[in-house]
Amino acid sequence: QSTAFANGLKKKELVILGTGWGAISLLKKLDTSLYNVTVVSPRSFFLFTPLLPSTPVGTIEMKSIVEPVRSIARRTPGEVHYIEAEALDIDPKARTVLVQSVSESEFFVSNVKYDYLVVSVGAKTTTFNIPGVYGNALFLKEIGDAQNIRMKLMKTIEQASSFPRNDPERKRLLTFVVVGGGPTGVEFAAELQDYVDQDLSKWMPDLSKEMSVILIEALPNILNMFDKTLIKYAEDLFARDRIDLQVNTAVKSVEPTYIHTLQSGQKASDIPYGMLVWATGNEPIELSKVLMGKVPEQTNKRGLLINDKLELLGAEDSVYAIGDCTAHTGFFPTAQVAHQEGEYLARTLDKKLEIEQLEWDMLNSTDETKVSRLQGEINLKKSKLDKFNYKHMGALAYIGSETAIADLHMGDSSYQLKGMFAFLFWKSAYLAMCLSIRNRILIAMDWTKVYFLGRDSSV
Ligand code: FAD
Ligand code: NAD
Repeated sequence: QSTAFANGLKKKELVILGTGWGAISLLKKLDTSLYNVTVVSPRSFFLFTPLLPSTPVGTIEMKSIVEPVRSIARRTPGEVHYIEAEALDIDPKARTVLVQSVSESEFFVSNVKYDYLVVSVGAKTTTFNIPGVYGNALFLKEIGDAQNIRMKLMKTIEQASSFPRNDPERKRLLTFVVVGGGPTGVEFAAELQDYVDQDLSKWMPDLSKEMSVILIEALPNILNMFDKTLIKYAEDLFARDRIDLQVNTAVKSVEPTYIHTLQSGQKASDIPYGMLVWATGNEPIELSKVLMGKVPEQTNKRGLLINDKLELLGAEDSVYAIGDCTAHTGFFPTAQVAHQEGEYLARTLDKKLEIEQLEWDMLNSTDETKVSRLQGEINLKKSKLDKFNYKHMGALAYIGSETAIADLHMGDSSYQLKGMFAFLFWKSAYLAMCLSIRNRILIAMDWTKVYFLGRDSSV
């Protein structure tokens, strides 16, 4: 990497933490030749999360929704250095990040210096400290989670088949519980029921009839970010497709073979399960908590506080935070938000460098007319550094049996689509959102394969 520009200005160190929606949208849009760019993340690939719920049951292959960060970096104009490591701590005063390598051969800790830091480390699934969730439930956040669900699903089905019909243990093993009626829980429950109805029913017809999918939601409705008509449509479809939807039901504790719930805050009941998937929303990861603990301006414990230029409160001059690790107000933590924030930040960093170039030229000039012209240009460019303005395009969700719902926003108008047409729209929207042609082709091939040959049921 060259260390300075032609006019002598030293290139700044830009460190990006994460390889998710926020970080990769920034990387793709940024002119990486303007900074010494270093990406730090324990995950060496980008994960296209919208199709993650389709992977445990084999509708989509896991490899179809990942894209190596090095391949994304290679398509940018400059050089990008990638460190496969986890950031443990940030020192905003010294402008360093403490990182720990995650590769098995080199397990070391080091400090990475930065001039600008972008924190885009996402969030983890919250458990609300409900006892027994860790150790008994499975999550659906990363590709490893999808693999765990797939293994558990296949094993549980095989285990259940070894018990005679009407055996209560067989019934328990064939009960699949999903907790959380947000889009993650809904989409996964829908995919699971599709798998039972469309594939398992062909090669284990009797057993498939005994399988039940239960979706548990603490609030009176599922999918609360959608229009009421779409919520009703999804709930009716679940009833038709035999997904047992239990609303106003909060899980209070989890045991290895059953969950303890409270309905409408009063009636208690225990639900035995063979597999439990937990999707009750987000909470900050450890690194975000460490940062909140050391920066006094970080008073919100649900996420990092930022201003309208995405600068971290308490470290505005050098640290940005985007995506799910921030405390969003007014909109849900989605890929759509992280993507727009990443692209906005790329534009801001490009403009920032232009200003720094002019300031450097001004500092090194003795010609008064040139200095005053440069000052004018700097002021103009600074005034054009706009605020982040989120444009909500709407929300989409797959709800099973080749149907989807779409709540679309265009300007001040909103449009609701549902059913088969919304499903086709959902498919085309996600194909369009994919980061690479490779992903697009693989996903289209997976859908075609499932349509003609069914899902792959091997582990
Ligand atoms: P992420 O994409 O989660 O990326 C975080 C990155 O940080 C990862 O690369 C991770 O490895 C890295 N990281 C973690 N810890 C560290 C550390 N200590 N140091 C360095 N790096 C670290 N949103 C939509 O808009 N539409 C959808 O259809 C949709 N579907 C979804 C389906 C599922 C199953 C899930 C779980 C989420 C879905 N979302 C969807 C939400 C969307 O995925 C998130 O809002 C989005 O990923 C947030 O982007 P991010 O960059 O903040 O975090
Ligand atoms: P969420 O926060 O959207 O929903 C979690 C649900 O779990 C809530 O409805 C909550 O009431 C329920 N819940 C919490 N505790 C519970 C308990 N003890 N018992 C029963 N229910 C309980 O979470 P998510 O679905 O994981 O989504 C996380 C984020 O990712 C959201 O912002 C979402 O919009 C986004 N996302 C979007 C899509 C999409 O657009 N298709 C898909 C997946 C995720």
